[in-house]
Amino acid sequence: MARKCPTCGGELIQNPKNPAYLLCTNCNKNYKTPSNNGSSNSKKNLRKQRFASIAKQKSMQLQRFVQTVRKSKAAEY
Ligand SMILES: [Zn+2]
Repeated sequence: MARKCPTCGGELIQNPKNPAYLLCTNCNKNYKTPSNNGSSNSKKNLRKQRFASIAKQKSMQLQRFVQTVRKSKAAEY
């Protein structure tokens, strides 16, 4: 089944750069893939969520590290 663009009614394709989005080749716009509650996808989604939380933690660690470096640098002057 083909998903259609709500703006122009054209056919949407899966965005090759981000599979979570659908791309309209006419408008060049991204649309979020409608969530389906199929049980076959739940495992994948769980893995995605876990990965997202890990990425969040890592970015928080990085922020903390940057703040510490800034603080230690400020103390030097
Ligand atoms: Zn469109």
